Amino acid sequence: MAHNSIILHRIFLLQRLPKHICYGLKTRLLSYRNPQCRFFSTKPQAQCQPKKKWCGVVGLEIHAQILSKSKMFSGSATSYGAPTNTQVALFDAALPGTLPVLNQRCVEAAVMTALALKCQINKISTFDRKHYFYSDLPAGFQITQYHKPLAVDGKLEYIISSASKKQQAINKMARITQIQLEVDSGKSLHDHKDHQSLIDLNRAGVGLMEIVTEPDFVNGDEAAAFLRELQLILVTLGTCDGKMSEGSFRVDANISVHHPGEPYGVRTEVKNINSIRHVSKAINFEIKRQTEELEAGKEIQNETRSFDIDTGETVLMRDKEGFQDYRFMPEPNLPPIYVYDDQSLPETDSKVVNMDAIQCQIPELPNQKRLRLQQDYELSLDKINMLLFEHGMIVVFEDILAIVSHDPLVKPQNIANFLMNDFLSVLKSKNLSIDNSGIPTSALADICTLTDKDEISKGTAKNVLIELFNRPSQSVRNIVESNKWYQINDIDRLKDLCEEAFSQYPEAVMKFKKGRKRAINPLIVHVLNATDGCANPQKVKDILLKMLS
Ligand code: ADP
Ligand code: MG
Repeated sequence: MAHNSIILHRIFLLQRLPKHICYGLKTRLLSYRNPQCRFFSTKPQAQCQPKKKWCGVVGLEIHAQILSKSKMFSGSATSYGAPTNTQVALFDAALPGTLPVLNQRCVEAAVMTALALKCQINKISTFDRKHYFYSDLPAGFQITQYHKPLAVDGKLEYIISSASKKQQAINKMARITQIQLEVDSGKSLHDHKDHQSLIDLNRAGVGLMEIVTEPDFVNGDEAAAFLRELQLILVTLGTCDGKMSEGSFRVDANISVHHPGEPYGVRTEVKNINSIRHVSKAINFEIKRQTEELEAGKEIQNETRSFDIDTGETVLMRDKEGFQDYRFMPEPNLPPIYVYDDQSLPETDSKVVNMDAIQCQIPELPNQKRLRLQQDYELSLDKINMLLFEHGMIVVFEDILAIVSHDPLVKPQNIANFLMNDFLSVLKSKNLSIDNSGIPTSALADICTLTDKDEISKGTAKNVLIELFNRPSQSVRNIVESNKWYQINDIDRLKDLCEEAFSQYPEAVMKFKKGRKRAINPLIVHVLNATDGCANPQKVKDILLKMLS
């Protein structure tokens, strides 16, 4: 008792001292008085509990259009952007009496995807009808896999890139709940002027893989990194073109918040997000919004929202009208899908899906490629990821490597830098993509070879590239020759030019001699300008330093 009163007396005194001085001591005394209260507070004990942190919980549903010439159950074509209703078989328009014929390519593509995502393939999977009414769904139901999907229990490892050079990239893993086959719907086109909706059935019946993840992400950055890796894997496999802008890779994000260790909270679903960057923003916004609502004592509603790119906010699309009865039933017109392996392969039937044969067709996956490029060429993981995530760039890089492989002077690191800096910036300035650049890979290889052999400078390399875009039929050597762009490595000639720089910039020379190291720059620039950028900059610097010392 006496002891306690001394402590309380001390607290009384301490409360008159400035906060920052007595903070540590006061905390210790208070925690002595109330062992449950770990943080400094002068409030009553009941409010001393540390504030619990809200944590985001995110699960993704991805609809990936299967790259296939024809639809999943009909022979009509699937090309994007065709004139409206020109790719519609009678079955796609749900005419009575038409029957589905399963496209084997769609099953094989989904099996390949499932194997790459380390899923367990169900040897027998079935189709179901999911009923709902919408004008772009002429049959009144969607064919999907509800009761027994094609594959379950997969996983995907992905990397969160380091924000700065000091930080390390973080390896993460997310579980794949299932992959199911289903068909896409048509599209409604709303003509606001004439107040009518028009239906385009070109997309109706295109094969989809719905890839569902467990709620394994805590924020938008994780979800975005996962989606980039998934997109890269699908494109590498050739099972989906991954184009979000054309709707062939679509993402719905399910988001809730909870206190770690407690059950998950009520989730909202954000739909129709048109880029991975926006998925990330939508998730982070939603986590913040839900946290603020709950902190204000409100409840989260299970609702569907959309992302407004102008405001960066999610907005209510529709309430989940309680339980929606889709009246799932087995699709009576389709037999089950049987997937075999080498052991179970029937002898007679040649047209079967054999997962072992498909496994053998899986090309090198991004993670294997990362390892190989790191080991063989000592490239940094960040550089490899830059090449991998710039659509089509890794192919160009490896094609150049194959062309220059006999030449030890050409460095992979320099090729990567040339592609990611010069090639990409020229492409962007001309609004071109790698696929339609019109520049042959052999020409890019020539530029890299001339640069690494010191025949042209790095600055000239970019000029050659620009010239090549203007006259793609010219050879690189021709361009260099006709413009007299060969690098000047001749020491005597460079010395003369350096002397000239000294006489033009006497102040720079003085400053340098007084210790201003950067005063050398105008001298280098003078020599480069005098030679149209052809003087070897490293040699110029070396000569200047020698002459100045
Ligand atoms: P539904 O069929 O209604 O869309 P599912 O149970 O199949 O519901 O879940 C769909 C997605 O929602 C999955 O990606 C799953 O990981 C995710 N999910 C489920 N519960 C939550 C939650 N509480 N918070 C965030 N995501 C969730
Ligand atoms: Mg859903």
